Amino acid sequence: MDEDAPEIEFVTTSRVACVGQGGALGHPRVWYNLPDDRGWVECGYCDKRFVLRGSDYEAELKQQAST
Ligand SMILES: [Zn+2]
Repeated sequence: MDEDAPEIEFVTTSRVACVGQGGALGHPRVWYNLPDDRGWVECGYCDKRFVLRGSDYEAELKQQAST
């Protein structure tokens, strides 16, 4: 597993909260809205990506993973 790869969490709602990895490695809770036209958002603190299930971006990721 590539440690530089951003963490990705698949979500089913367009409103998500991120606290990083939690505890000492975490960050203050922040909320994000996933834009409908993009389908993903990246956390400004920890670079974690939230990807909306069923979005074009999810399909893209799956394509990349299978090559
Ligand atoms: Zn975060």
